[in-house]
Amino acid sequence: MGRSERLWFIDLSAGPTFVSMWYDLPLQVTMEDQSINPYSDGGALWLTELLADYIWEFVYNLAAPDFVYDPPWSEKFKVEIVIIDCREEPEKAIVPIESTVNLTLIRRAVSGLLPLSEVDVEAIFLNVTDFPELNVLINKYSGKLDSWMHKYLFLSPMNISYVGAQPIYEYLKRNLSLLTPEISGNRSGHVIPVIAFAFSQDKHFMFKYKWLIAGLNPESSAIWGVSFREFALIGLSQRDFLYGEYAEPKQEGKGLGFSQVIIHEVGHMLGLAHPHTYGDLGDFVSSAMSYFSYEYNFSIFDRDALARIYTDKLLMKAYRDIMEAKEKLPLKLDLEKVKAVENMMNETEKLIDAIEQEYLKMNYVKAWEMALKVCEMAHEILGIVKALPPIPREIIAELENKKLEIEHLKEEYSDLLSKYESLLSENEAFSSKLGLFKDLTILLFITTISLLITTIFFVMKKRKCPLTSKDTAIP
Ligand SMILES: [Zn+2]
Repeated sequence: MGRSERLWFIDLSAGPTFVSMWYDLPLQVTMEDQSINPYSDGGALWLTELLADYIWEFVYNLAAPDFVYDPPWSEKFKVEIVIIDCREEPEKAIVPIESTVNLTLIRRAVSGLLPLSEVDVEAIFLNVTDFPELNVLINKYSGKLDSWMHKYLFLSPMNISYVGAQPIYEYLKRNLSLLTPEISGNRSGHVIPVIAFAFSQDKHFMFKYKWLIAGLNPESSAIWGVSFREFALIGLSQRDFLYGEYAEPKQEGKGLGFSQVIIHEVGHMLGLAHPHTYGDLGDFVSSAMSYFSYEYNFSIFDRDALARIYTDKLLMKAYRDIMEAKEKLPLKLDLEKVKAVENMMNETEKLIDAIEQEYLKMNYVKAWEMALKVCEMAHEILGIVKALPPIPREIIAELENKKLEIEHLKEEYSDLLSKYESLLSENEAFSSKLGLFKDLTILLFITTISLLITTIFFVMKKRKCPLTSKDTAIP
């Protein structure tokens, strides 16, 4: 999985794996063990959570992985390999030191990971006898891990030949310039130093930290390699070079060399983590970063991870340059050039939108390539803006004064506006009162008129009535 397609699949009915005996049991075994009915509500929830665990592993291991180091970016990378031979003369005769490494395989793998950089791989071969202090340290810190507990209690003898990695690391850190003179880390050239030891018999490096005595975790005992910030430290032995002799069935003339371990450790130096950091199933990804697959190339997930972080970093740098240019531009005098720079800025911002589109389509290398261009454009814009003649100090001071005046006028205006508004509202209140008064006056007028008419009517009526009765009484 992950060789060229962004695909990850899990057979839930398979397992267990050799590294996760009790974590990735087959679904049917676990369900029977815990009497789970997937058709019940509880069983459906259990199954959903199981799937969620695996999806979580996928996201953190492969889709959005962490980095072990901040990935360095450069137009040129040089993997500088120093192989120090610590073996006996007969061992050297059986396996020539030059045959333990294949530079073409390393170059191909690293170039695949860094398609937009020039990648160079070089190796030099040295003898430990040329470094007496180092030779003394290796002998002093060599030993055999022969755990009594493992031998008699767990009945699994260890017998691991080792060299303590810590003192050798300290020595190399102090004396790195003796071995690799060209150490640098900038945009135009970045050197990745790899110090690899060819040990006698079956010796390996080992870290002697807090020891889980009941376990046989390869990461807590003998190691093939480790990547520090300054360099990668690798140690293989004669037994590794002739591993075919010890394999079952025997594969004569075949063995393990430095190439795969170097590719793996260079991956770490460039920031990549193991695809099994958050769950052992990631170990089956087709990547030089996994343990199980023993691949010489990086997975699509590794390539995506680096292309994405490089694009992000370049875009962030471009944004920073554009922001700085935008801040400085209003203080520049040459109006014609200011206009031209504004046009360049618009072009850059359009390209940034196009990068985001490529990114969304998961065309990360394309986005990375475009981000390199954008970064250059933003850098150029900032350079032009910095070089433009600034507006003279007196004009700036006058502008500042005018600005203050404008601020002052604005304040006065807002004061006046609020006064006007309050007067307006008072006027409105008065008008409404006046309206009410008018209405009342009209009402009073109408009432008075009505009363007057009524009174006249009654008076007339009263005066008419006696006359009528008199008239009728006379005849
Ligand atoms: Zn590793």
